[in-house]
Amino acid sequence: MRPIAESPHARVAFGPGSLSQLGELLDGLAVGRVLVVTTAGRSSSLEPVLGAAGTRITGVAPIAREHVPAEVVQQAVQELDRLRADAVLAVGGGSATGLAKAIALERGVPVAAVPTTYAGSEMTSIFGVTDGDVKRTGRDARVAPRVVVYDPMLTLTLPASVSAASGMNAIAHAVEALYAPGVTDVVAAAAREAIRRLSESLPAIVKRLDDVPARTAAFAGAQAAGVALELAAMGLHHKICHVLGGSFGLPHALTHAIVLPHVVAFNSPAAVDAVAAVAAALGADEAEAGLHALNRALGLSQSLTDIGFDEADIPRAAELVATASYPNPRPVSVDDVRGILTRASRP
Ligand code: NAD
Repeated sequence: MRPIAESPHARVAFGPGSLSQLGELLDGLAVGRVLVVTTAGRSSSLEPVLGAAGTRITGVAPIAREHVPAEVVQQAVQELDRLRADAVLAVGGGSATGLAKAIALERGVPVAAVPTTYAGSEMTSIFGVTDGDVKRTGRDARVAPRVVVYDPMLTLTLPASVSAASGMNAIAHAVEALYAPGVTDVVAAAAREAIRRLSESLPAIVKRLDDVPARTAAFAGAQAAGVALELAAMGLHHKICHVLGGSFGLPHALTHAIVLPHVVAFNSPAAVDAVAAVAAALGADEAEAGLHALNRALGLSQSLTDIGFDEADIPRAAELVATASYPNPRPVSVDDVRGILTRASRP
């Protein structure tokens, strides 16, 4: 367990046993009535968190869902109002943190987070809410968690598949940060460290879920990836995953894992140094091959069709991606996106 660290947004406790610091951190927020949000079926991981948070907890809403549906946000806001809660504590992965952020956006209450996956959302001021089949995202300082506790002991139950996919999602943030416009040395260092820590620890975790040093290293990587995401603008890879998740219902993290090597291959000629840094951080000769090998080592699907994508949707998806605006090191045409989606759809 390390001393509590300060960052512009958050006070952060890190390491095995750091959950014991949650009460002190919540005291620092000067809040009295805290609503906990989480995904369904997480009651066993919730117990120690509720114990550490103490009597401030006024209610639990186990209603968080992937992509933060607008109707779930409304339900959670009603619960916050009904309980007269003055803060929200997310316990879980990016879905729980995403719901807490959406509540903060509506009511201005502070957010605390106890992450239990490697998505890294707890380090960012980025929110997203899905209305119908359109996901609206943005940045707002009010949603950035002000308290974060990374206790790897809470992740020992995280299945291999979610550990691997959420970790690859974090690696994708780090990769795109490396070729983002105006990337600074601090961002690049965080991104390289994220890729290195996650690519070393994730294979160990899928072999042995209760490997505490590997779980701790993966959290360090997740935090670094979240910092890189907060400080950099994401490119083509994120736009593709955003469209595939928001408009075609594909699972967020797994989509990232499958698409990433294909986008890296596409961007390589226009981002030679950044892509070389990705390869070096992976310990691979070449970034695209290294990312494919990592996906294979983690037992993840290698094809979008395996996870429910219909190749007949490629033209519509490509149109949505190519007409959106986002920074990318290489200009992107509709045909380019079609090519990437076609390659990512086939094993
Ligand atoms: P998730 O939060 O949807 O969790 C996946 C599954 O794992 C859920 O069923 C959850 O209940 C379960 N789970 C979580 N922790 C567990 C544990 N310790 N033991 C057992 N099961 C556990 O998945 P995720 O990959 O963490 O998050 C994906 C979401 O996060 C997406 O909606 C994505 O858009 C968002 N995200 C946002 C940002 C941001 O900065 N805004 C960054 C990354 C991801």
